[in-house]
Amino acid sequence: MSYLNAELGSCFFHPEGPFLRFTQGGKTFTLHPRHFTIGGLADEEEARKMVEFVQKLLAETWTRRQEITPSYRRGRELKVLEVYKLLPRTNCGTCGVKSCMAFATGLLQQEFLLEDCAPLGEPERAPNREELARLLKEAGLLS
Ligand code: SF4
Repeated sequence: MSYLNAELGSCFFHPEGPFLRFTQGGKTFTLHPRHFTIGGLADEEEARKMVEFVQKLLAETWTRRQEITPSYRRGRELKVLEVYKLLPRTNCGTCGVKSCMAFATGLLQQEFLLEDCAPLGEPERAPNREELARLLKEAGLLS
């Protein structure tokens, strides 16, 4: 996991778990010592492809481990309130839920994408959007 942590960059590593979480192509991968889970799968065919992807990633990383400096950088869990503070907080409902707090919760549970909050796409909100994207990447919830 420490090799993957070094290689992936945008991921969440919890050394004591241990587990490592990252997002790619809209799917969330959580790797444990003896198993892994994949969130957001549409069907069995996609599941097969994603399992192959993880197996290839693990095999390639292990093969190149002599070239990689392992990273023990610990991930930081993102809190709902941190997300909420960066949202427009107008409770406009455009995203499909009644409050920005509900959207923040859904965003952390990966039920929504940042783009689902249209007001966040407004130019004056770019700094908040960028900060939110950065925090989500650090938490392994955005690629
Ligand atoms: S679209 Fe954005 S501003 Fe509107 S309720 Fe949803 S999160 Fe809040």
